Amino acid sequence: MHHFTYHQNELYCEDVPIKKIAKEVGTPFYIYSYATLKRHFFAFDKAFEGIKRLVCYSAKANSNHAILTLLKSLGSGLDIVSGGELYRGLKAGISPDRIVYSGVGKRIDEIDYALESGILMFNIESLEELDLIDKRAGLLKKKAAVAIRVNPDVDPQTHPYISTGLKKNKFGIDAKTAIEGYKAARALENIKIIGIDCHIGSQITQVQPFKDALKSLKSLVTELKKIGIEIKYLDMGGGLGITYDDESPPHPDEYAKVIVELLKETDLQLILEPGRVIVGNAGILVTRALFRKTSSVKEFIIVDAGMNDLLRPTLYDAFHAIWPVVKSGDEFVKADVVGPICESSDFLAVDRNVSDFKNGDLLAVMSAGAYGFAMSSNYCSRLKVAEVMVRDDRFHVVTKRQDYEDLIRGESTPPFINI
Ligand SMILES: *Cc1c(COP(=O)(O)O)cnc(C)c1O
Repeated sequence: MHHFTYHQNELYCEDVPIKKIAKEVGTPFYIYSYATLKRHFFAFDKAFEGIKRLVCYSAKANSNHAILTLLKSLGSGLDIVSGGELYRGLKAGISPDRIVYSGVGKRIDEIDYALESGILMFNIESLEELDLIDKRAGLLKKKAAVAIRVNPDVDPQTHPYISTGLKKNKFGIDAKTAIEGYKAARALENIKIIGIDCHIGSQITQVQPFKDALKSLKSLVTELKKIGIEIKYLDMGGGLGITYDDESPPHPDEYAKVIVELLKETDLQLILEPGRVIVGNAGILVTRALFRKTSSVKEFIIVDAGMNDLLRPTLYDAFHAIWPVVKSGDEFVKADVVGPICESSDFLAVDRNVSDFKNGDLLAVMSAGAYGFAMSSNYCSRLKVAEVMVRDDRFHVVTKRQDYEDLIRGESTPPFINI
């Protein structure tokens, strides 16, 4: 559920007509609904009511400062995968003891930053990383609290690019090696074992894969106990899917029920790392139609947002519904909605029945709050778009649109080029 709805044929975000924002801000831009973000966070968190849990919102889905600040105010911790995300989390006021750090390629400077900040735990993804963190902690005279990210080899039945818990994926450590990892970790002076972790993929629309992963983690916890290694935190990762088109993912209540059921006779503290399910349907991308063009086999609607603004259709063949910001009649057309980028893969929709958009019409690209702006780039020297947050009848530009000067900021001409 979200707060993007029509009133008399005009699309609103909460109580603000989107047309009005477009007029003031220009296009393209992202809009996030405060009420939707809040509702999604609470729907997720409350689903686990009664058990000890820490919801660490996954920053990479959308790391906008206003969004992190809002989620922090609602009680969220943070799941990070880089030093930059740690910086953003701390800037948003998130307490370091509510931050967990995943990722297969942590650099020394990032590890040091996390150690100095005193984060809750590192989710370790290789034995070499474990050794490095031990060394850095020793040098900095810190103890590094760790979980091992286990790759439970379950098929999340999602797009291959976003499955992460299969043997062939680069993430985590397989169960057998994980036991060895824990034994090794126990012997390391500057490491404190506190958790076990997994993250099996994204946009998962069934509960079974989560169930399988959790069972696998639980049996590892039992095995570890037998050899005297106590685990306090069990981190389930993220991955719960959302509705983009006709998917029917489990409600957080259903997801939580499965997890709580399996955890209730343990004293493990649960950590969750939801990303998409919090922000995905809380945001949209608004773009304007520039031209229409008809070829012998295709109809094109050319718009002012491209793959550099929203990469998901290009990267994953992802579906985003496209709604008119102002409904004007019942004319539909089968068309490709494409951007201005010089790549054939620059599309927002292919062979889609959409409103018969004419030049100047506004299009709402729905469900774009997760992995939208976060994956955007300056390709083709296009300016990164503005981001707007709406609350009731107010809106605020939370990220200013870039200008041309932003494009060359930090670039310089070497003295050996003669001008
Ligand atoms: C991306 C990611 C998440 C969030 O995934 P969603 O599918 O957006 O919920 C959580 N944990 C880790 C380690 C991730 O890499």
